[in-house]
Amino acid sequence: MRYISTRGQAPALSFEEVVLTGMASDGGLYIPETIPTLGHDELAAMAGLSYAEIAFRVMQPYVNGEIDDDTFRGIVKEAYATFSHDAVVPLNQLDANHFLLELFHGPTLAFKDVALQLLGRILDHFLKKRGERAVIMGATSGDTGSAAIEGCRHCDNLDIFILHPHNRVSEVQRRQMTTVLADNVFNVAIEGNFDDAQAMVKASFADQGFLEGTRLVAVNSINWARIMAQVVYYVASAVALGAPHRAVSFCVPSANFGNVFAGYIAKRMGLPVKQFVIATNANDILHRTLCDNDFSKQELKATLAPSMDIVVSSNFERLLFEAYGRDGAAVKALLERFQHEPTALAEAPLATLRESFASHSVDDATILEVIREAHHRTQEILDPHTATGYRAAERARADATTPMITLATAHPAKFAEAVVKAGFPGVPLPPHMDDLLEREERYTVLPAELSAVQAFVAENRR
Ligand SMILES: *Cc1c(COP(=O)(O)O)cnc(C)c1O
Repeated sequence: MRYISTRGQAPALSFEEVVLTGMASDGGLYIPETIPTLGHDELAAMAGLSYAEIAFRVMQPYVNGEIDDDTFRGIVKEAYATFSHDAVVPLNQLDANHFLLELFHGPTLAFKDVALQLLGRILDHFLKKRGERAVIMGATSGDTGSAAIEGCRHCDNLDIFILHPHNRVSEVQRRQMTTVLADNVFNVAIEGNFDDAQAMVKASFADQGFLEGTRLVAVNSINWARIMAQVVYYVASAVALGAPHRAVSFCVPSANFGNVFAGYIAKRMGLPVKQFVIATNANDILHRTLCDNDFSKQELKATLAPSMDIVVSSNFERLLFEAYGRDGAAVKALLERFQHEPTALAEAPLATLRESFASHSVDDATILEVIREAHHRTQEILDPHTATGYRAAERARADATTPMITLATAHPAKFAEAVVKAGFPGVPLPPHMDDLLEREERYTVLPAELSAVQAFVAENRR
């Protein structure tokens, strides 16, 4: 299996190269040249297997023999042993036919752990084999940074530098990053805002001279291995509810579209999925595009579901590539126009998308209402991201007979502000984190200057 770019002009790569590369040289994203399939019998045979074994079977074709089966099985097992629940991603029934898929039992209490626990280990495996080291740089306004740090803290061949805006990240989120005292983990508090931090990371990827030849790796959701890891829980949860003998639907709180795109890949692999409901907060580009064919940027809005605050959904490009019949030139033209002006999708691709996807947007006031309503009806306290999904699933589902699985993307303790605003006293952190506020922290404060940040990275990488 080879991987090709959504803009059609970058060289095809192997799995190993794709994991180490991130964005394609033509500005596109990598996607498998052919999507492997899981037959009816293969899906049926997954019933009752452990999450790690299902994960191995779903991902093995993508790895393409570039990691031998025994080693890959070991990597997968180790990655998911870090989760605090034996089911890894348990299903929780909300009503007769609506289920929550709890993706927040990993080390940082949000679904990004599912992908990043695996990605760190895969990167480390390839780097060790090549006798190379690599540097990871990322900017975070909270969520992704801690998941990336937790995914890399045990990796001998990786040094990770995460930039966050100084004094502008919640204490719990900061401490989830800064209390990891591993030798290869460097937290940098930038005296600026998130955009300053992001701009310095981008500039560092664009010109990597300051690293004198050491590879810089991206672990954001444009990395194919993250999508691949997320395909697994769609398969595992559907099988638990009776697939392949019956179809299910999914509702996905969405931002960069990596999560729901993984669901679409699961469907393309043969999983019987009736419908995907895309839930957005007030940053509703995905909803506007699907509903009104308004594919345009709008001002960023700060919401109670901050991990879904985006202007552009980077992984939507992968779905556009499929909807446009894998015409890289058409995707490139559309996205270049989109950069400068409001645009719209062509009729045929839009119609194709609407066959599989519905959408619903949920504003802040509604998020609070939903947290209260869901608690009243089910005794569950939802985190604000999951709350958008709960509402969208009820409003946009096509039928009541197909089981609806809403993805619970974060633990409510992680987003206490919304929970308290909804009128609850808060939610305790789970036992493995209950001393988080007493743990020792380590981070370096730097000015928002590219040269200072790059000098820090160059000096401290091992
Ligand atoms: C990242 C994140 C999302 C959005 O996921 P995408 O893959 O970017 O669509 C939703 N909820 C939480 C809690 C997140 O951390």
